[in-house]
Amino acid sequence: MRIVGFGQEEPKAEEKQQRGTVITEPSPVRSLVSVSFEEGGRTLTYYNDRFDLNIGDRVFVSGKLSGKVGYVESLTTKFRIRLSDYEKVLSVAQTPVLGTYENKGDMMCSYDADAVSPEDFRKWVLPPQDETEGGEIIFGDGYEISMDDPTSADGYDPSVMQRAVKYCQDGKIGYVSVRNGVGKAFVHGTKWYEIDFRLSGNVLREAYCDCPYPGLCKHLLAVIVLLSVMRMHRGLDLERDFTLIGSETFWNAVRHTGQTITVHPDC
Ligand SMILES: [Zn+2]
Repeated sequence: MRIVGFGQEEPKAEEKQQRGTVITEPSPVRSLVSVSFEEGGRTLTYYNDRFDLNIGDRVFVSGKLSGKVGYVESLTTKFRIRLSDYEKVLSVAQTPVLGTYENKGDMMCSYDADAVSPEDFRKWVLPPQDETEGGEIIFGDGYEISMDDPTSADGYDPSVMQRAVKYCQDGKIGYVSVRNGVGKAFVHGTKWYEIDFRLSGNVLREAYCDCPYPGLCKHLLAVIVLLSVMRMHRGLDLERDFTLIGSETFWNAVRHTGQTITVHPDC
């Protein structure tokens, strides 16, 4: 088992303030920024007049790659450009990775209270949302799914379950956490979908996914499959608050923060 630790000491007050997505805050720092994107492996140059950027920062930009996560590769303040030729940096998520993580298969697992929160994970993968867009969100009563017998859930469809298992195998689950019984998951389908649930014992209650599928969807079932497998075969303790992050997303995030990490020997 590999255990990785970050930021063991309490972050300083000013660092805590830096966490999160800064959207407005005009700043005199003007730079020309080279941004690399995971999708397509492209690197493009953007104009920035709003943020105090550093190499490795995770950013969202305007233009045809809007909505795709990019990373600052390099930047310069020595430039002369025609503004209309450049798209801009729209937001930056400066989120250090805290907590101690164990490698459990394709997921990194932490029981620490300061491990990556759902809000932090959202900033890793999604552009800032305009809360006023799209109107009011309302819920029905949600699904109830037992890990011991998911087939008894309302609207269970074995063909959807097959796709859910494939989702798990393909590492489509980016994030699952439970804190005080309140659960949140992010699953990557055609885009990132958000799942809300409550966990009591081995049962997910009041479970919702924000995908457009009208019934019990593969994203919800994939979360059930993952939690069952982690509990049965990887020793995940569902009685404790926990955070699971897909290894690929996790290491991508760590690689770009330039943080010092501590790897404990296998035990
Ligand atoms: Zn769904």
